[in-house]
Amino acid sequence: MRILVVDDSTTMRRILINTLSKLGYTDVVNGCNGREGLDRLAESPIDLVITDWNMPEMSGIEFIRAIRANDKYKSIPVLMVTTNAAKDDIVEALKAGINNYVVKPFTPDVIKEKIEAVLGK
Ligand SMILES: [Mg+2]
Repeated sequence: MRILVVDDSTTMRRILINTLSKLGYTDVVNGCNGREGLDRLAESPIDLVITDWNMPEMSGIEFIRAIRANDKYKSIPVLMVTTNAAKDDIVEALKAGINNYVVKPFTPDVIKEKIEAVLGK
């Protein structure tokens, strides 16, 4: 099971990758914006995308819209990890096609719970 982590913060990518590793998800690739996320998707099959919202070049929302507009990627579960916790933001992200979201800062337990929810476990 390969997970793609996309966040412009090196620290946040490291935290997410460490958290995933502790949860047993060790096959993780990453990128620093939506554009790099699309590059990773083109390189190898991805089973779950975890993406930030606010990123330069291509935001998380634009990235999710690109995923959902592509027949090859549109059924991949997407979990958004963001500081944008306002109701309107969450509605916008849901409309763009996320399966679930985590508000930063998060605990490993929340990440675990949301991944399992998104994967239907
Ligand atoms: Mg960011």
